[in-house]
Amino acid sequence: MRELKTYLVEGVVVRRRDFKEKDRILTLFTLERGRVDVLAKGARRPGSKLSYCSDLATVGSFKINSTRSLDIVLESKTLYQPEGAFGNIKKSSKIFSALQIVDNLYREGDSYSMTYNSLKKLIYLASERDSKFGFVSFLRNVIIDHGIAPSLNECVLCQKEISKSSLVRFSLKGGIVHQECARDDAIEISPDEQRLLQSIFSNDFSDKTLVESNFNKQTYLKTFALLNDYFSWQFERQFLTIE
Ligand SMILES: [Zn+2]
Repeated sequence: MRELKTYLVEGVVVRRRDFKEKDRILTLFTLERGRVDVLAKGARRPGSKLSYCSDLATVGSFKINSTRSLDIVLESKTLYQPEGAFGNIKKSSKIFSALQIVDNLYREGDSYSMTYNSLKKLIYLASERDSKFGFVSFLRNVIIDHGIAPSLNECVLCQKEISKSSLVRFSLKGGIVHQECARDDAIEISPDEQRLLQSIFSNDFSDKTLVESNFNKQTYLKTFALLNDYFSWQFERQFLTIE
């Protein structure tokens, strides 16, 4: 007899597609194993227990049977669904954008607990209230997971230190550049925007950093837009959006 191997994960449904007549294949972004594809048998049958858990952006715990081909969901329990975001395009667009990013950029196997937790938090925040800060920390963590944090203390072009008095610009290709090193495509950046970026990418960053730092609204908006542009440029594709 073949041994039945089961495992338990907590995950977010980032993608789902119909399979056969009544089933669904779900892509889960999990705390323990990163991205996994699983079969939810009968999930399209009315009243099926797996149906509720297979909605996009559902946070759930899943008991899964590992097989040689596609792993199969045995049981699931919904932990959270972003009901407050349904029917609100601005709120739900951030969630769907984040799901798409995870589905496209992450591969199976590794655990990315920082990004997982920020995705989960974004789903809560977007549902309950404003999601701007939630989306920024999510993007920050995806950038760090992929080892492409912008250089903020050294000039990307001459590799020399950026001192406090340096006049600087920002290059989407890699980070801060001295004004005198900058090429035409480098973007203007104010000292406050520069400081905010540095705190976003510092090691001890947390959501609190964003909430408690006292920059003016314009600084937040411009820095978030810059981060969004940097993200799109680095991954060579346009995801939305911080507005
Ligand atoms: Zn330089």
